[in-house]
Amino acid sequence: MSVPKPRFSPDDLPSLVERVLDRLGEDSRREGLVETPGRVAESLRHLTEGYGLDAADAIGDALFRQDYDEMVLVRDLPFYSLCEHHLLPFFGTCHVAYMPRGRVVGVSKIPRLVDIYAHRLQLQERMTREIAEGLQRVVEPDGVAVVIEARHLCMEMRGVEKAGGETVTSCMLGCFRDDARTRGEFLELIRIRG
Ligand code: ZN
Repeated sequence: MSVPKPRFSPDDLPSLVERVLDRLGEDSRREGLVETPGRVAESLRHLTEGYGLDAADAIGDALFRQDYDEMVLVRDLPFYSLCEHHLLPFFGTCHVAYMPRGRVVGVSKIPRLVDIYAHRLQLQERMTREIAEGLQRVVEPDGVAVVIEARHLCMEMRGVEKAGGETVTSCMLGCFRDDARTRGEFLELIRIRG
């Protein structure tokens, strides 16, 4: 039998942040900090609003019949996420491509797709895969490619890695995995040699 997790309503977040401040040796009632618990709670809510949503929510009914069968690439999408190990930001750019099979997605939906998976506690590797698999599941194209280039403040601020070091992850599905030429074309377009 598993022990039930303590349950907090979202309204508890500010008082929990207040306790964290006090445990750090601060006075959570001093002028500069008195509004901080509410602000931190609000920003945490915003940065984790992807929970409970998935690719279908991002794309909605913005799927259009189209005979276009060349690669669709949306590159250099900025994103911000929080690492699940330290609750510190990792951020960078995300490149998303797919090979349509009779249907295309409204391009404005791709940034929303990335945000839904970025706005939760994440690992860069898992986020890369979730974006690719979500797009594959909802759009059913011949293949999907996702590459994420990111800086991790948990590494940089704690001195684990020199500032500016980037982590690159990729997930290739369908024709991007099976066909070296398609993959090569994608990597050429985003200027990463694979
Ligand atoms: Zn971390």
